This record gives sequence, C-alpha cells and structure tokens, in this order.
Amino acid sequence: MFQPVRGTHDLLPEECRQYRFIVKEAMKVARCYGFEEISTPIFEFSGVFHRLGETSDVVSKETYTFQDRGGEDLTLRPEGTAGIVRAVISHGLGQHAPLKFSYAGPMFRYERPQKGRYRQFDQIGVELIGVAKPLADIEVIAMAHQILKNLGVDESVKLNINTLGDTESRENYKKALLNYLKPFRPKLSLESQDRLDRNPLRILDSKSEQDEMIIKEAPVYSDYLNETSKTFFNDVCKGLEILDISYKVNTRLVRGLDYYCHTTFEFITDVLGAQSTVIAGGRYDNLVEMMGGPRLPGVGWGAGVDRLALLRPIIPLEQTPIAMIPLGDEAEKACFKLTQELRDKGIFVDIGYHGNLSKRLKRADKLKATYAIIIGEDEMRAQEALLRDFKTGAQEKVPFEKLVDKLVKVQLA
Ligand code: ATP
Ligand code: MG
Repeated sequence: MFQPVRGTHDLLPEECRQYRFIVKEAMKVARCYGFEEISTPIFEFSGVFHRLGETSDVVSKETYTFQDRGGEDLTLRPEGTAGIVRAVISHGLGQHAPLKFSYAGPMFRYERPQKGRYRQFDQIGVELIGVAKPLADIEVIAMAHQILKNLGVDESVKLNINTLGDTESRENYKKALLNYLKPFRPKLSLESQDRLDRNPLRILDSKSEQDEMIIKEAPVYSDYLNETSKTFFNDVCKGLEILDISYKVNTRLVRGLDYYCHTTFEFITDVLGAQSTVIAGGRYDNLVEMMGGPRLPGVGWGAGVDRLALLRPIIPLEQTPIAMIPLGDEAEKACFKLTQELRDKGIFVDIGYHGNLSKRLKRADKLKATYAIIIGEDEMRAQEALLRDFKTGAQEKVPFEKLVDKLVKVQLA
C-alpha cells in the first residue's frame, strides 16, 4: 500500500479550509498595506538558490535538487524570496520600485520531519523591495503583527528582533566571533564545527547545550555595530513602540541565509515545541545585486501556514447545506431541477443519494443542514415539497414554484 512520502502530508478538507482561510486573511491584510500577490514557479535553475547561500543550511543541506530529462540543473524552491528577486530582475521591475509583493505556496526542504516541520510545507510571505529606510522594516513587521491578530493567534506569539548591522559591522563582528570561537573548535557540537567554516554567525543560533556554554561568553554583536547600524536599529525599535507592538531584543537571532543585514525578526510561540518560529524575516539589502540585478534594498518575511494552522481551532464551514431528499425516481428528476436552481443562487445543497428517509435525515443532521426538502410520491402528485426546519423541527408544505424564492430568503438572509 502506498503511503504519503515522508515529510509530506495530505490536507483533508477541514485542513484545506483552515489553510485557505489563513491565506485569505493574510492576503487581505497585505492588500491594506499595498502588497499585491505574485506567483513564481515552484522550481528554478539551481543557481537561483545555490549561488546565494552555499554557506546556509537551507541551501547546502536542505534543497531538493535534480536534473530534469533535458539535463537542466533544477531546485525545488526552499523559500520565496530568491524566486521573487529573480522575477524582479527577469522582468526589469526594478525601475518601478518600490515594489510590494505578497505570495503563498508550497516550499520544499529536505529536513527531519516532525510536527510543524515538513519536507513540503506552505508559506505565505511579503517582500518590500526598493526602500532603504527603517520605515519599510516597521511596516512589514506591523503587517505580520496585524495578520497574527486577525487570525486570533497574537496572544500565543511573541516578537523577537535583532540587528545584523550593515556589511562593515557584520564583517567586523564575524572576525571577532571567529577569533573567539576558533580555540573552542573541538568542544563545539559537530554541526557548529561545520558552521565555523561556512557561517559562524549561525552558531549563535545553536540549541546544543555544549555550544550554549561557549556562546554565552562570546563577543556581543552590539559592540561591533557602527553608528549607521545603531541608528537604523533604534529607528526600527522606536517605530514599533509608536505602534504599540511589543518586542524583545534577542541578540542571538541570526537568519539562516547570508544576504540578510540590519533588521532580523521572528514571531515565536512556545506552544509548538522546537518548531517555535511562526514568522521569520529580515532585511536583505545586497540580495538583488548579488543575483545580478540593480542595487535595490529589500525587506520581507515568510510565515509557515502549517504552523499557523496548528495554533488555531478548526473553523466551521461558511455555509451549511440544505438537504434535498427525493424518494423515488420521479421525485429525483424533479429534485435535479430544484437543486440546480438553488445552486444557481449560490445555495449549498446536498442531495441524499440513497437510503431510506431516516438514513438520509441522519446524514442531513451530520452535515448540520438547516432545512430538508423532502419529496415523495404524495408531494409529486401535489407538486409541493415538504420543508423541514431543523432548528425548530417545524414542517410545512411549499409549492415547487415558490420553494426557491423562499429558501433564498431564509438561507441567504
Ligand atoms: P526553523 O528554525 O524552524 O527551521 P527557518 O529559520 O528554517 O525555521 P525560514 O527559512 O525563515 O525558517 O522560514 C520561515 C517560516 O517558514 C518559519 O518560521 C516556519 O514557520 C516555516 N517553516 C520553515 N521550515 C519549515 C518546515 N520544514 N516545515 C514547516 N514550516 C516551515
Ligand atoms: Mg530551518
């Protein structure tokens, strides 16, 4: 028997409803901030991702990379930003900056699957490209905050922010950190030893206990920030304060990808175990240029829809049905027509396909139907339906020709 591939999961209707709801709400908020949806392919030439982040974990260890039948080297997208920047460059959109894009769709990473961590997962996200001011950072964080609020999960999620400073600050700090860490190399976890050569900043993010002891005494990033970087970060913090968005400065917050600078942030929950980050983002002023485009700064975030879904109760169907219960062949034919007319008006009608009256009423009850339309031989003769109101238990006879108007009134009211 076939099972879903490890790390993938089916979304059964209840979950699909939940996902659609989350994406719809997020896009609605994004729209208020002037962001419009963009959709890029699920796979790109591998260079789109690999050139950027040989040193990042996501790119070096987690990508699904393959050759297609024509020998092209392709990668399933592990995140949204690189593809969008590629699209900006492909279409020469830089000249229209500032650009504000939102996106939603599946991402792919070869990770160790657990609850809230999958190999195919859904993300929503936004990118604001072409604005170098802290205002842009504040705006995208405020938007993320608003989305969490609209989804009713803001109580269980906290904002952490940090700054990586500009390139100069970052290089200075990297040097200091390396000098400090090198003598500890044999004492670091294997993963961190590996990161020491590729991406030492990521060691700060390590969750290993043996690393924690060493990291505790490491040089502090803020001591290496130049004035420009400090001012930038202060402005972002001040903006959040004006908006009453509470945050915690977490100096160990570093992003996985190399092209980040200045602001980094994560919305973190304590109810999903190790999968605690719900939304993560930051500023990437060098990315567009690194990918061969014009010098355009950017800031954005990505959110895990799967993790957002785990924080929310399942939502009920928007509309509960009217149960159409024809008894006998003649009645069934009459029902087709009535059902069609009701559906044409946008009403959700469930036809009872088989079983006796009580079985069909049970199904109607299970679907939380508001009304049942029962049509048997007697009703066919009189050309009127028996309409049962499930809420009150009342039944009345309604002539066929009046049925649609009546139900439109009560069901769509
Ligand atoms: P983590 O530290 O949990 O691995 P990350 O730093 O790799 O996260 P990002 O690359 O910033 O995450 O992705 C943004 C968001 O996408 C995450 O905060 C999370 O909600 C979601 N996400 C990332 N990887 C996965 C995954 N494998 N399964 C489900 N959601 C994921
Ligand atoms: Mg990860």
